[in-house]
Amino acid sequence: MNTSQTTMVTGGAGYIGSHITHELLKNGHQVVVFDNLSSGQRRLIPDGAYFTKGDVRDQTHLENVLKINRCTAVIHCAGLISVSESVNAPQKYYEHNVVGTAALLRAMQRHDIDRFIFSSSAAVYGNTEMELISENAPLKPSSPYAENKRDAERLIRHASRWGLASISLRYFNAAGADPAGRTGECHQPETHLIPLLIRKACAPDTEPFSVFGDDYPTDDGTCVRDYVHVSDLARAHVLALESLIRTPRSDVYNLGTGRGWSVREVIDTVIALTGRQLDTVVRPRRPGDPASLVADPTRAEIELQWTARASIEDIIRSAWRWEQKQHRYPAKRQIH
Ligand code: UDP
Repeated sequence: MNTSQTTMVTGGAGYIGSHITHELLKNGHQVVVFDNLSSGQRRLIPDGAYFTKGDVRDQTHLENVLKINRCTAVIHCAGLISVSESVNAPQKYYEHNVVGTAALLRAMQRHDIDRFIFSSSAAVYGNTEMELISENAPLKPSSPYAENKRDAERLIRHASRWGLASISLRYFNAAGADPAGRTGECHQPETHLIPLLIRKACAPDTEPFSVFGDDYPTDDGTCVRDYVHVSDLARAHVLALESLIRTPRSDVYNLGTGRGWSVREVIDTVIALTGRQLDTVVRPRRPGDPASLVADPTRAEIELQWTARASIEDIIRSAWRWEQKQHRYPAKRQIH
């Protein structure tokens, strides 16, 4: 193991953070997971990582953990993630997502830790006319959650004044699960399209699936998103960290596939792959949802040598396998 590189992953017990932790360990990094377990789960943390239960708003605790473990870098994934909840609880979101990031940056500054990767989001772009969104598209966040990501990115950029090298990774729609079945998505409550569809396909009930709005300015009227496999995202973090170690700078990259899928197309793909029928009902638009978010991933391809490898089918298959493993639903039909 490479003892010179110890990386703290905040939110490392969560969906994306646990995949990143696996990928770091695979690449010879030591990992300290810092997570308050408010939504993350202990069982998702890989055995090879150290774990400390803590909250990123607690600067003193962060400082102790960074110091004791001689951390050299931080990957910051901890945060609240529900767009709709953020509309109803903007102050809570600000405290966790912006104030928490500020506390973490102060703790790092105090201990001269100057490599930082941030879990940002394509939500910072908000409603845009652009078919493919590049990093220099205007930022027009349409929810408190998205504003938090923009504000945190700004704080991180400002920290370059004291020497912080940072990369903010703007995820498009993370989905799927670890192909080896070690970790996956288990948000409570779940609000995301693919895991909700998979749950419905695994355990059908009489309630039709809600499609939030079919009057958007898209081909079939439903929202379009760029779904990227969570293991592809995890790989991008390791590449970004290694790139930052080689070339310190303050930068931002989109992580997406460059291909959009409408809600209707995703539903049809889940039906085709699982063989389960899913009835749908159109409900009003969900507040804060932009019509279309599709990445132009060119910068990450060129500068990080990163490309999303998994297809939408790979994403859905891995999510299906993970969900069945969680609840031991009988696999009436194998999908290959
Ligand atoms: N969506 C939907 N029904 C659901 C959950 C989500 O129609 O039960 C839609 C949602 O309005 C958005 C898209 O699916 O247009 C993707 O939503 P998700 O929450 O997965 O990701 P987001 O883009 O909001 O981060």
